Amino acid sequence: MLPSNDPRRESWVDIPEGSDFPIQNLPFGILSKKGGEKKVGVAIGEYALDLSALYDFGFLDLKTFSHHHFENTHMNDLLNLGHEKIRQLRERVSYLLSTESDDLKSQTKRELFLVKIDELDMHMPVKVGDYTDFYSSEDHARNVGTMFRDPDNALLPNWKHIPVGYHGRSSSIVMSGEAIHRPAGQQKPQDAEVPVYGPSKLLDFELEMAFVTYPGKPMGDRISTTEAKDYIFGMCIFNDWSARDMQTWEYVPLGPFLSKNFASSISPWLVTLDALEPFKVKGPQQDPKVLPYLEYTGDHHYDIKLDVIIKPDGGEETIVSQSNYKHMYWNMVQQLAHHTVNGCNMNGGDMLASGTISGPDPSSYGSMLELSWRGTKPLKLKDSSERKFIQDGDTVIMRGYCEKDGVRIGFGEVSTKVLPSK
Ligand code: CA
Repeated sequence: MLPSNDPRRESWVDIPEGSDFPIQNLPFGILSKKGGEKKVGVAIGEYALDLSALYDFGFLDLKTFSHHHFENTHMNDLLNLGHEKIRQLRERVSYLLSTESDDLKSQTKRELFLVKIDELDMHMPVKVGDYTDFYSSEDHARNVGTMFRDPDNALLPNWKHIPVGYHGRSSSIVMSGEAIHRPAGQQKPQDAEVPVYGPSKLLDFELEMAFVTYPGKPMGDRISTTEAKDYIFGMCIFNDWSARDMQTWEYVPLGPFLSKNFASSISPWLVTLDALEPFKVKGPQQDPKVLPYLEYTGDHHYDIKLDVIIKPDGGEETIVSQSNYKHMYWNMVQQLAHHTVNGCNMNGGDMLASGTISGPDPSSYGSMLELSWRGTKPLKLKDSSERKFIQDGDTVIMRGYCEKDGVRIGFGEVSTKVLPSK
């Protein structure tokens, strides 16, 4: 039997050319047929495999799983089973969908278990208990430091020693497709004596990726960089909406607050680390040398191509940034080791975001703040309108995928329309 991410494995389900979801991917999500119950599904080509139905008909291990693992509002109960059992589940699903198995191939079984993705509603895959946002791209930190502080000392002294992060707001993480309202809040225009209140004029996206955890260790224990991969389930694309004018005024001394907590948007399918394994690449040389608890062996960066697109109301899409997750300075195993080194516990379904993913080239910057260089270099869209920041009616779309040896592992997209302030 071939392993689940072997490029030679084929599915009896037709996979269209360029699909994000070949049999080597099998990402997990929460779906419902119009108005129906929420269930755990796995994407394959243009379809989702209904794991709840698969369980009910006895195709999954009845000793390990229960019905509520697959028919549930979120995946947290399933993730709480831990890495080994979920890995076995994915291997089982991969086998059932492969040409090596006839179990689900008949027309009646296909109709029972497979649903067209475009006929489904997708929902938040996990109930996010805690959400952390890192700041782990050196190019992003350097760009922001250059703009707002000192070009000669753009990075703060701690930046290359600590994967800097802050605790964000989990209640306002929303699914792709859900429109958001422009936030309003305090801003202090540069020439004004006192702050004003009103809709943010500098609404921005942040191109990020987030990982979702399995339950960690008891409080007081730490997860090492070697152990970290067994506590990470999978990843999605993460748009960390930011109101730059509110941020500039409020962030001293405790960091971002209302400029960030009004919304973050995610893509619906969680792509497992197992599926991403073939796309690991070497990270940057870290200099100065990091403390021993942040050292790691092997490769823990991933070659994930990322596009950001702006689509004006009724208009066509313009790609405004092309970045790559491999540009990160700090990787996921370092972030998780750092997060728990003080004994902080992790729960199943926690979400840890990377921070804005900018590359070295200006075309790969992961926010409008950087792309338009604080509004001094407007971007031209295909309809010849200009953007310094995001306007009402704009839809921001982020897409990501890996590709190697003829296998494409995609994340789908996170797409969000911005509505006027309420
Ligand atoms: Ca962020």
